[in-house]
Amino acid sequence: MDRIFPRLTVSLSKLRGNASEIVTRCAAKGIDVCGVIKGCTGIPQVAQAMVDAGVKQLGSSRLEQIVRCRRAGVPGPYALIRIPGLSEVPDVVRWCDMSLHSERAVLDALEAECARQDKSHRVIVMVDLGDIREGFWDQDEMVEVCVHVERDLPHLDLAGIGVNLGCVGSVQPTPEKMNDLLALRDRVEAAIGRKLDIVSGGATSSFTLVHWDTMPQGINHLRIGENILLGKDLQLEWGIEDMNYLAMDTFTLTAEVVEVKTKPSYPQGKLCMDAFGHKPVYTDYGIQRRAILALGKADVGDEKALLPREAGITVWGASSDHCILDVTHCGREIKVGDTVDFSLAYSNLVYVTAREDVNVVCVDDCEVKN
Ligand SMILES: *Cc1c(COP(=O)(O)O)cnc(C)c1O
Repeated sequence: MDRIFPRLTVSLSKLRGNASEIVTRCAAKGIDVCGVIKGCTGIPQVAQAMVDAGVKQLGSSRLEQIVRCRRAGVPGPYALIRIPGLSEVPDVVRWCDMSLHSERAVLDALEAECARQDKSHRVIVMVDLGDIREGFWDQDEMVEVCVHVERDLPHLDLAGIGVNLGCVGSVQPTPEKMNDLLALRDRVEAAIGRKLDIVSGGATSSFTLVHWDTMPQGINHLRIGENILLGKDLQLEWGIEDMNYLAMDTFTLTAEVVEVKTKPSYPQGKLCMDAFGHKPVYTDYGIQRRAILALGKADVGDEKALLPREAGITVWGASSDHCILDVTHCGREIKVGDTVDFSLAYSNLVYVTAREDVNVVCVDDCEVKN
């Protein structure tokens, strides 16, 4: 059975445009870009658009997405950007050219597996500079592990070091944090007696330093996903208005209306709990024109993050498979069978692309971005 809606339309030309704006700006500062495809579940055409725009590698946190793109014929090299588990090591060697690391035991297992498969593999060792996710906290230990890779693990090529910021700990990338990374690079280089290839300064949030021209010289690699895929976090959440060289309407989610009725906005009766076991607090907006879409939290995660393309439409709420819109103030009269278009937030994109029953359509138009 092939479903028509929900439909996700992917503008490959806009994605290529975003990627090339970012690649060009980074290149001007001596920075290579790893294009991160995990936000769209590794759609191969999206990966190819990034390659066409000049990214140096493709990165994903998930091996399956790297396998998916390789099988679709998208050339790498591929970097696994979630530190791998011991159970994943054979596939990391088989499918990836490079990976990020923070555990000596995994690096040792990777060496043994490389020997078994007669392959070499590049590694980036991660430091934690305060975001409290992955990476060495103890920098003496990190230098020791780098020396161990260099001296004792012949199948591994210590390509460089890296950091992640602005994720779970929401720590802002700053020139100071980047200088801390460069100081650590100097220590590692002194300990191994050669230069490192890669100093990887972070993700989309670190692109701000490129945009503002405050990135310290020496950071030569960023791993960028969201800013290519959606261009939204820095423009809308950070409020960086002069980043409007990036399109935010790269992906369009189209949903079908299955009910339109005039109803109260406040539930009637004794309130207990909703479908997810929560006890929401409702606001009484009076009588509304309410439209139900044939999609829900199972398709988009947090429905409140959806961005309706049309003025006068707001998302009221959702359960797993129903999403309710307030269309009271919409300029057109919405009827059953009509469709409604949305731009997506990153979390919406992660959910919707992971579903097998959403109809994904890639278009390669050359229209000017707006
Ligand atoms: C997800 C991720 C990225 C890319 O993050 P964006 O915010 O989408 O640019 C980069 N590095 C690592 C380690 C990641 O997990």
